[in-house]
Amino acid sequence: MNDTLPPGLYIVATPIGNLGDITIRAADVLRKAELIAAEDTRVTAKLLQHLGVRAPMTSYHDHNADRVRPDLLEQAKTKAVALVTDAGTPLISDPGYKLVRAAHEEGIAVTTLPGPCAAVAAMTVAGLPTDRFLFAGFLPPKTAGRTKVLEELKQVRATLVFYETGPRLADCLADIAAVLGDREVAIARELTKLHEEVRRGRAGDLARALVAEGPPRGEIVLVVGPPVEETFSQEAIEARLKAALATLSVKEAAKQVAAETGGNRQELYKLALGLTGRT
Ligand code: SAM
Repeated sequence: MNDTLPPGLYIVATPIGNLGDITIRAADVLRKAELIAAEDTRVTAKLLQHLGVRAPMTSYHDHNADRVRPDLLEQAKTKAVALVTDAGTPLISDPGYKLVRAAHEEGIAVTTLPGPCAAVAAMTVAGLPTDRFLFAGFLPPKTAGRTKVLEELKQVRATLVFYETGPRLADCLADIAAVLGDREVAIARELTKLHEEVRRGRAGDLARALVAEGPPRGEIVLVVGPPVEETFSQEAIEARLKAALATLSVKEAAKQVAAETGGNRQELYKLALGLTGRT
């Protein structure tokens, strides 16, 4: 590896618990960076100490980002500037997006140093489908806001991944059961740390268990399985179409039943026309 780094912005993932998870490239970049922009310099100082790195640090977090961004960008034009957050991959429910966007706009090279990310780590141990997933960050803290977001996610045919806190977890699971249905979920807690745990079950059962046990400690990723694909018989589809046609146009009825059953909208349109005797 070269002794110096070309100028630019380096997005560096750091461990989410186990310091052994720092990548060789990440350690190398932190060693050679001329400036490290850290979410919390005290947290990053511990990692740097572990790596035996002494480098100038500056803070970059949600509350000072707009103010310090222009200077960081100016420095990244002539120096290697590394961005790290407290744990995991910057930009993933963490600061960095506006900095990366502005760097591109100013022609500054942006390089990624991929590594730990709690959402991805959780999916690898959840035992839920990984072919399609939607990462939705933190849900709103209260039931009203949470329900609204869950309603938006209800139709998504993919595994859903959320960051959550112990004190909110039981309420969150109860809302998931109420809005999304009693889906399979996995609670991935304290990943890569001493008390790493994966707890699997139905959202409703786990919500009730947590109410009885009290809130779990530590950091949590909640993985929610996709909606169970129902198979609909021809009779069931026709019954739904007839019910929809009582109040909707042929086009709207076909659209609604397509959303409900996952069927093809054009085929349902033809079937609905047949049912109204207009073919
Ligand atoms: N950017 C980070 C990443 O790549 O994972 C996430 C930052 S976000 C502010 C912090 C949240 O990530 C925590 O509240 C928790 O939901 C999740 N998290 C972080 N470390 C974790 C761990 N070791 N085990 C489980 N969840 C973790």
